[in-house]
Amino acid sequence: MVTYPPRRGAAPARAVDGVNLQVRQGEIVALVGESGCGKSTLARALVGLVKPTGGQVLGGGEPLGYSAAALKAYRRHTQLVLQDPGGALNPRQNVFDAVAEGPRLHGLTDRLGERVHAALARAGLRPPEEFAGRFPHEMSGGQQQRVVIAGALALEPSVIVADEPVASLDASVRGEILKLILELRDSLGLSALVVSHDLGLAWNIADRVAVMYLGRIVETGTVEEVLLRPKHPYTRALLSVLPDSDERPVLLTGEPPDPAAVPGGCRFHPRCPLRAAEQDTLCDSRDLPVLTGDPSGSSLAACHLVH
Ligand code: SF4
Ligand code: MG
Repeated sequence: MVTYPPRRGAAPARAVDGVNLQVRQGEIVALVGESGCGKSTLARALVGLVKPTGGQVLGGGEPLGYSAAALKAYRRHTQLVLQDPGGALNPRQNVFDAVAEGPRLHGLTDRLGERVHAALARAGLRPPEEFAGRFPHEMSGGQQQRVVIAGALALEPSVIVADEPVASLDASVRGEILKLILELRDSLGLSALVVSHDLGLAWNIADRVAVMYLGRIVETGTVEEVLLRPKHPYTRALLSVLPDSDERPVLLTGEPPDPAAVPGGCRFHPRCPLRAAEQDTLCDSRDLPVLTGDPSGSSLAACHLVH
């Protein structure tokens, strides 16, 4: 669980509460949901930037420790890639130094040049020698995001957590960056958790999808299960408004979700079209168990009325 200190007079905001999410080796999991649903907070908790107020993060089966040394060791294997490469890169630092920053921090300075060039090449910046001396303003947004990814790869991590990795890029280069993440999964066996509000992105990149609503995962399964045969009314509503959907669009009414005022019972009940049709009192009163889907199992939805 991750809570934030209350605004004055308000209850603590439970950004993430009761989440069980696993990412297996060589797998890409997309964490999707509307903005404010807690997915970025969960991503930050997974890389140790936010400490859960309850529960734990496991890396390679081991509980994450929060001493500076434990975090440093953990981050060598779990790297965060953020949305805006322009903000992530220092305008006065050239590409070589940007990519070398992680290895230097971790004392991996032996054959540093080789390491940096290999990471640049893996991130698709070839020939690496040509890019190493450039500065951020001499590159496109897509190239800058490749530098950020190279910086993560330079530590040879096993997991990348990418928060909206293409949201700030031009549509024309988004596909290239997604293709790069897929190539890294295939060639290096890298695992990735990709956070996005974009279901189309999830379709293009993910092996599995987890749908988040108001701090909880409400549906999880393979990409085909969740996006082609959605069970949860929230997932169905999200999918129904996509331009190529065959379903009648389900427009969600009611207040947008507020983590400081989580409704009782099923958190989605004030906006749920299925509950409205059934008028089910279970929905309003009984909380749902946390989904603890074994990644090899079939899809699961946190809903009293669909299974
Ligand atoms: Fe809707 Fe009820 Fe299912 Fe919640 S439990 S998603 S309110 S039908
Ligand atoms: Mg976000």
